[in-house]
Amino acid sequence: MKTTKKIFAANWKLHKTPAETRSFFREFLQVSLPGEIWFFPPASSWEACAESLRGSNLQWGGQNVWSQVQGAFTGENSAAVLKELRARGALVGHSERRRLFGEGDELLADKVAVLQGLDLTPVFCFGETLEERDAGRTDEVNRRQLQKGLGKAVIGKPLIVAYEPVWAIGTGRVATPEQVAAAHAAAHDVLKELRLADAPILYGGSVKPDNAPGLLGLPHVDGFLVGGASLEVASFQAICRAGQ
Ligand code: PEP
Repeated sequence: MKTTKKIFAANWKLHKTPAETRSFFREFLQVSLPGEIWFFPPASSWEACAESLRGSNLQWGGQNVWSQVQGAFTGENSAAVLKELRARGALVGHSERRRLFGEGDELLADKVAVLQGLDLTPVFCFGETLEERDAGRTDEVNRRQLQKGLGKAVIGKPLIVAYEPVWAIGTGRVATPEQVAAAHAAAHDVLKELRLADAPILYGGSVKPDNAPGLLGLPHVDGFLVGGASLEVASFQAICRAGQ
C-alpha cells in the first residue's frame, strides 16, 4: 500500500560542507513538521548528516551510488557505506547525472538493483527535456525511462519515483498544474503495468513555498523533490508545511 504521508525530499546537490550540514540541522530540528522528510547531502557530508539525524524521524540518503558495492571504480561511492551509516536510500538517475555524467537507462537499472539488494530505497528520477516536450514526446520519453530504469526493480521492495521535467529544474520555471497532473497520471499508469503502483510519485522542478500547496493537491502528487529551496531552513520548512 502506498503511504498516505506526503514526502518532502531535499536534494542539496554540491552544497553544504560537513560543518554547514551540522549547522543546518541544529536549526531545522528545532520544530516538528508533518510528512516524511528526506535529505540528500553530497557524499562528503554523509557522515555529518547521519550524526545530525540520529534519533530524529527524518530520513536521508545519497545523491548517487555506483552500480556495484565495491571494486576498481576510482572516485565512486558505495551503497554499502550508506547502509553502514544507516541511510534509507539514494537518488538514481537525476537529470544532472544523466546529462553531465552520461548515465543511461541500463546503468540506472543496475543502480536500482544494487540499492534494493541492500534494502535501501531508490528514489528514481525521470523527466523529459524541453526539446522532447516541444516535439510532443513527453509521454514516450517518460514511459521509456520508467520501463528501462525500473526494469530490475523488485515488486514489493521500497521504491519512490520523482517526475522532474528537465526544463523546470533550477530554472524558476515550474510546470503548470495541468502538465504535472498529466505526467503523474501517465507515470501512475506505467507503474501499474510494471506492478510497482505502490511507489509514491514526487514532483521536482522549481518547487517553492508559494507554488507548493497548489501542486500538492493534485492527484498522484505524493510529495516533492526540492533543490534550490531546500538549502535554506525556512523555505524548506515552509514547503514541508504545504499539505497542512
Ligand atoms: C532538483 O535538483 O531535483 C530540483 C528539483 O531542483 P530545483 O528545485 O532547484 O528546481
